[in-house]
Amino acid sequence: MSHELLGDSRIFALLLQIDREFTAEVRAGRCLECGGRLDTADYPRKPRGGPPAELRAEYLKRFSLCCAVDGCRTRTTPVSVRFLGQRVYLGAVVVLVSAMFQGVTEKRVAELRERVHPTLSPQTLLRWRAWWRETLPTMPFWRTARARFDRPLDKAGLPASLLARFGKDERDRLVATLKFLSPLTTRPRSARAG
Ligand SMILES: [Zn+2]
Repeated sequence: MSHELLGDSRIFALLLQIDREFTAEVRAGRCLECGGRLDTADYPRKPRGGPPAELRAEYLKRFSLCCAVDGCRTRTTPVSVRFLGQRVYLGAVVVLVSAMFQGVTEKRVAELRERVHPTLSPQTLLRWRAWWRETLPTMPFWRTARARFDRPLDKAGLPASLLARFGKDERDRLVATLKFLSPLTTRPRSARAG
């Protein structure tokens, strides 16, 4: 994997398009509590690590929906290939940077700061690595999701070992990996509070 992808506006445009499609699908399904119409109720976000300026405005929004019926107003947040949970860095950055840098050295961090964001810290990189190798493999999502692969994934090689399962083209791999992880980007309905 190369960091060239992080400067590729086509990737960010494609991920935006996928998030729009996810959102349109959920909107068509109506409110799960009362069947009401779903209105736009996006969350503001200030992501780091991209995208190119012409897409910036759309990336300041995490698409979300809210029931239009008074007294219900239940929020429904579709899955996303752009935002990986609450992280301030875009999902594409978390995946690509983690895959490229297996070891965290000062030189590498300096390169990444220049390339990705001036505040990117070694602590953040180490936290991502711990998440890939220690947290993700213990999640219920992972236990189900990994079943789709015929050979077990090398945990110590995550996320590179995951990307490698999605073909040869770097762009396709990244998009497929973000789609694969997208169930993690919204809380399951049964676990939702209020
Ligand atoms: Zn409702």
